[in-house]
Amino acid sequence: MLVVMHATATSADIERVCTAISDMGYQPLPMPGAQRTTVGLVGNDRRVDGSHIEALPGVAEIIYVSSPFKQVSREWRSDNTLVTIAPGVTFGGTDVPVIAGPCSVESEKQILEAARMVRDAGAVALRGGAFKPRSSPYSFQGLGKEGLALLRRAKEETGLAIVTEAMDDEGAQLVAEYADCIQIGARNMQNYSLLKTVGKMRTPVMLKRGMAATVQELLLSAEYILSEGNDQVILCERGVRTWDPSSRNMFDLNAIPAVQKLSHLPIIADPSHGTGVRDRVPPMARAAIAAGADGLLIEVHPDPNRALSDGAQSLFPQQFSDLMRELGSIAGAIGRRISALPAR
Ligand code: PEP
Ligand code: MN
Repeated sequence: MLVVMHATATSADIERVCTAISDMGYQPLPMPGAQRTTVGLVGNDRRVDGSHIEALPGVAEIIYVSSPFKQVSREWRSDNTLVTIAPGVTFGGTDVPVIAGPCSVESEKQILEAARMVRDAGAVALRGGAFKPRSSPYSFQGLGKEGLALLRRAKEETGLAIVTEAMDDEGAQLVAEYADCIQIGARNMQNYSLLKTVGKMRTPVMLKRGMAATVQELLLSAEYILSEGNDQVILCERGVRTWDPSSRNMFDLNAIPAVQKLSHLPIIADPSHGTGVRDRVPPMARAAIAAGADGLLIEVHPDPNRALSDGAQSLFPQQFSDLMRELGSIAGAIGRRISALPAR
């Protein structure tokens, strides 16, 4: 439930509404806006009766949020939420940031080469997993803390923002010390303990769609993070598994406008995991920008044939720089721009 205050409401009026919500056993969340303040009622899983609140002084109207996800919904907040992970790297506005880099951090040489290359091609953030959720326990599991330290070096040298995955509660605290944005992977989209942990933190979170998750389940997972107080959440479409082995996943471009209608949170596209096949990544990246994605996540490797994970879907450096040029024209055609790093 949302209590919309009159523009003329006083702070005492707002305070009275907050007290009334607390007295009902829920949490009040005042949200000052440019024109007027709205007070959210947090903590209900069904419709509550707000008639006595509607009668309080300064209250303009009560809006009952009909969707199962509340704080994530457009009903709750009509303006786009802007998620800034580093100076000049904002998701949800006109500019479209590109996050690029290898699937995993493998060595100092590899990650520094990757960082220089993606920065020179126009990316604003570097990705690379230090903690890797692999299907097999015998596959490369990532360099762990050493990988995080290498990402920090890459950031110091290039100025790129850092996005990297955390797989558990303890890892989330550690990742937050090094990264500008914590990635929650597809396999952990419904790890509710981890979602609550990052919800209590203040580091921005990139939440990937689960392998077989509906759009509603993705938004409900995001609600876990917002319900704990962190509204700096970027959603990510990375494809869902289907019956068809012709691609790794079915890249669901339709999720982008669908989510943008349902939620104020930015949604980016990951055509690398969405297709699993290198040569399909540029066409789907172009399509995602045309469809209005608020950012891209692209796997690029200095030497994909030697990659320790996801080599088959990692772009060669030249492919990535060609793609970046094309994306600039496509973004321009729909009144957007590919983000550029601010001068250092
Ligand atoms: C990744 O980004 O490298 C990754 C493991 O992605 P996902 O969680 O979408 O499979
Ligand atoms: Mn990967």
